[in-house]
Amino acid sequence: MVPRRVQCALTRWLLFPSMRPMRLIWRVVVLLVCPSLPFLTPSHAQINQVRELAPGVYFHEGDLAGHGHCNNGWVVFDDYVLVIDGNFPSGAKEVLPKIRAVTDKPIRFVFDTHHHGDHAYGNLVWVENGATPVAHEGVIEEMMKYETGFYGKTPGRWESEIPKRPDVAASKLKPPTLLFRRDLIFDDGKQRVELVHFGTAHTHGDAFAWLPKQKIVFTGDACVNGPYNFTGDGDIGAWIQTLEQVRKLGATTVCPGHGPMGTGELLADQQSYFVELRKEAKKYARRKPEEIKAALKEIRAGLTKQTRIARYVGDFLPAQVEKAYVELGGKAWPTNQAAALDEHQIHAQSHDATLRR
Ligand SMILES: [Zn+2]
Repeated sequence: MVPRRVQCALTRWLLFPSMRPMRLIWRVVVLLVCPSLPFLTPSHAQINQVRELAPGVYFHEGDLAGHGHCNNGWVVFDDYVLVIDGNFPSGAKEVLPKIRAVTDKPIRFVFDTHHHGDHAYGNLVWVENGATPVAHEGVIEEMMKYETGFYGKTPGRWESEIPKRPDVAASKLKPPTLLFRRDLIFDDGKQRVELVHFGTAHTHGDAFAWLPKQKIVFTGDACVNGPYNFTGDGDIGAWIQTLEQVRKLGATTVCPGHGPMGTGELLADQQSYFVELRKEAKKYARRKPEEIKAALKEIRAGLTKQTRIARYVGDFLPAQVEKAYVELGGKAWPTNQAAALDEHQIHAQSHDATLRR
């Protein structure tokens, strides 16, 4: 991929020509001759498209805005296919025929990068097609906490999705049954995939799929590419440390949980966003919640000014700021519940947008 700084410079050069006519003509010619320049192509062009990153290794950017789908990956081994992320049931059904189009090997495993619905609620679709859901044991622990309806107590998140998502209403929760504590390795001598838990990040059960031969990492929501950081179930301080360990793998291709894929720099960008967010929150850690709430606009402006991380700033910002502030010793906001609720609502809305239309 073209580095982002170069992209920005080239885009500026093409879109904001100087007043000299010859230069203007030259730039128009460049635009006409090169309509498919990758840095001018909106990332949306990649949504629902299959990309083969290396022989037998695929990435699929899910339709988040339309259907709340996460990104998927799959790796074709000699005897079977390993799918990365269960997606929502409708997302699984979107991806399944695309896997079938490139291989007839049996889909034996589906790896849930974490417990969230858009990454794990589609497990039953994969099970019905012969796969076993695999995850870090923290995924089961998180499901026990949040999916209490399944475990015989009060209704959980699955039940709250049912009125909003017909695909969830028509399916059943299928928690992973093959669990690992630190890592699980798939290796047939040709393909090698290491599923690794590095610690808490986006949730307490995040794990990554690392392909050492191709230097590709699939991150789930522990790394995204856009304003999609839901911090409600994780720990921002631990998240930064976890990303530090993932960076040490030396990945050159990063497939995030949401948004377009990127180079190894994507991990650094994601980490920088949280580092900068915490810096802002720290300034207010000994001050009253009302003061940091009042400074939200200023914090947003400060983060947006930093080109490397600007794309991470979005509707989740108030809840992210609150989370970082409380982690750093700040008192819970008077409207603590409301901020957390907002975050959940925005998260849910982004997942249900089309289905409710
Ligand atoms: Zn998530």
